Amino acid sequence: MLGLYVHVPFCSAICNYCNFNRGLFDGALKERYVEAVITEIERAGKAGRAGTDAADLSAVARSAKADTIYFGGGTPSLLEPHEIRRIIDACESAFAVAADREVTLEANPESVSEARLAGFRAAGVNRVSFGVQSFRNEELRRLSRLHDAARAAAAVGEARAAGFDNISLDLMMWLPEQGVSEWIESVDQAIALAPEHMSLYLLELYPNAPIKEDMARARWSQAPDEVAAAMYLTAMDRLDEAGYDQYEVSNVARPGRRSRHNMKYWEDGDWIGIGCGAHSTRDGVRWKNVSATEDYVGRIARGEPTATDVRRLSADERLGDALFTGLRLMDGIDLAAIYDRYGVDVWERYGAELSPFLDEGCLKREGPRLKLTREGMLIAHEVMTIFV
Ligand code: SF4
Repeated sequence: MLGLYVHVPFCSAICNYCNFNRGLFDGALKERYVEAVITEIERAGKAGRAGTDAADLSAVARSAKADTIYFGGGTPSLLEPHEIRRIIDACESAFAVAADREVTLEANPESVSEARLAGFRAAGVNRVSFGVQSFRNEELRRLSRLHDAARAAAAVGEARAAGFDNISLDLMMWLPEQGVSEWIESVDQAIALAPEHMSLYLLELYPNAPIKEDMARARWSQAPDEVAAAMYLTAMDRLDEAGYDQYEVSNVARPGRRSRHNMKYWEDGDWIGIGCGAHSTRDGVRWKNVSATEDYVGRIARGEPTATDVRRLSADERLGDALFTGLRLMDGIDLAAIYDRYGVDVWERYGAELSPFLDEGCLKREGPRLKLTREGMLIAHEVMTIFV
């Protein structure tokens, strides 16, 4: 089944490390954006992949079954509940959305209240993912986040009171001046709130990120690589003990609570991205919408295509992507399924490059599956790049 991703590019402030497609909240632009998103969804249903040179989507869209809708950003929780409802309604009109759908809303703790969360729930959202990042106030200040630890904990309580039984928390590790004990403090506080799902990301310092200047000015530094490795392994042990199941390099969940939407990215699935900068992959064709919000809204208003970079992937590229992303899963890659789908014996093609990782205990073979070990996850990228 398809996943539907809806990008919401507005934020109340811009965090000093952020490299996403986002801009400052502007109420008038937001209203035009919501209309544009609804129009894009309707077009997907009526006229196919507007603006792409790929096969027309009209034949598949209305009959296409989708079982996840994911509002990502930016800060989707800056939309009003009635706007979220209209977008979900548009998805239902344009696609055959499964009754047991997963509908996720990314939310920042400072942008919610129990009443707003109840509104989102009534609008059809059944999973909320909070961008917490840390439960230590000094770390949150270093990241220029707008919330503090108490607000994050309160937001989780408000979500429960609003009826959410599927809550995810994002945490970031390897923050400036953070060591293993500081990091584990946040992990423990997250566990104490009993979310169904958690994502643990490494802070990436992209070139020209303002946080780099902040770090230079304040003489903050990141811990050495081996400490970052210890942070990761210690957290995963802690989460194991707390009953979470690590199912992907950066993600853990209670049984039955994996992110169904994100699994499509890792399991060689198809998804359609709506909104500025959103990526789509369907039937081996990949495209991306224009990134700038005004450009996107203007194109939709003029009836012009929003898709750029439309590309039909070669068989080798599809295989490479399937292996690259599949290896992120703890369940690894099913080599028999890959053979059935792509007609390629992975071991025959890549065995010589993979063998050293197997010998070092970073990879393991279990029946038809090839998996990273937990230690292997520390060098996941090195292994995965064999395939692309
Ligand atoms: S809230 Fe998220 S998307 Fe917005 S600026 Fe901060 S990190 Fe970026």
